[in-house]
Amino acid sequence: MSSVSRRHFLLTGAAALSVSVLPLGRAFAAQEEGSTPQNAITTDAALQRLMEGNARYVSNISKHKDFSAGRAARAKAQHPIAAILACADSRVAPELMFDQGPGDLFLVRLAGNFVNEDGLASLEYAIQFLSVPLVMILGHSNCGAIKAALQVIQENTALPGHLPHLIQSLKPAVRNVKKTDPSAPDLVERAIVENVRLNAQRLKTAEPVFKRFVQQGKVKVVGAVYDIGTGKVNLMDAAAHQRPSS
Ligand SMILES: [Zn+2]
Repeated sequence: MSSVSRRHFLLTGAAALSVSVLPLGRAFAAQEEGSTPQNAITTDAALQRLMEGNARYVSNISKHKDFSAGRAARAKAQHPIAAILACADSRVAPELMFDQGPGDLFLVRLAGNFVNEDGLASLEYAIQFLSVPLVMILGHSNCGAIKAALQVIQENTALPGHLPHLIQSLKPAVRNVKKTDPSAPDLVERAIVENVRLNAQRLKTAEPVFKRFVQQGKVKVVGAVYDIGTGKVNLMDAAAHQRPSS
């Protein structure tokens, strides 16, 4: 059996098992009876919690330091307040930058923070079965994946292994910014923002789950860029969102 067909067999076998034992939602996200989950909040309230947490992180007054608290409750269920698609970059640490604890953030990470099929499925799971009210596409300053995509386009650089496949997904953002002003000195920064914008748009319109949840107001998709140097998360279209009160 090839590795691919073996993987397929294992995946379909596992799926069949979970369906036969429990309905899908319960199998993934058993919930305590009678309690109000922490993520039963509005999309704006979830965003405000993140941005207030980021303000604490920037000011170096983070409050999430006791990671043993709540372990027993977390063993039973998860109720994350936000799902975040972030870069794999080691300097990007969402729980730290938003001052959140274990169980608060549902993360999908890969270099270049773009939406692919498996990442989309993970995020669909987060909104459908975990009732996550907020989804953020999070880019960051000085992103090596975006830099590589720019280099490939400008210098026709050949990359090894599977990297060309990943870079392919980042090319649309780089091409868009090059089209508007090819000689701009800040092409990388612009492409980082454009990549977030494109992927947020893709997520908002992704059929059948995301589009429906967004239209029904159950989920908000926002874009943001993390500044590694300052620790600050800058929301895109910030005027459209409720500003943090502190
Ligand atoms: Zn990156």
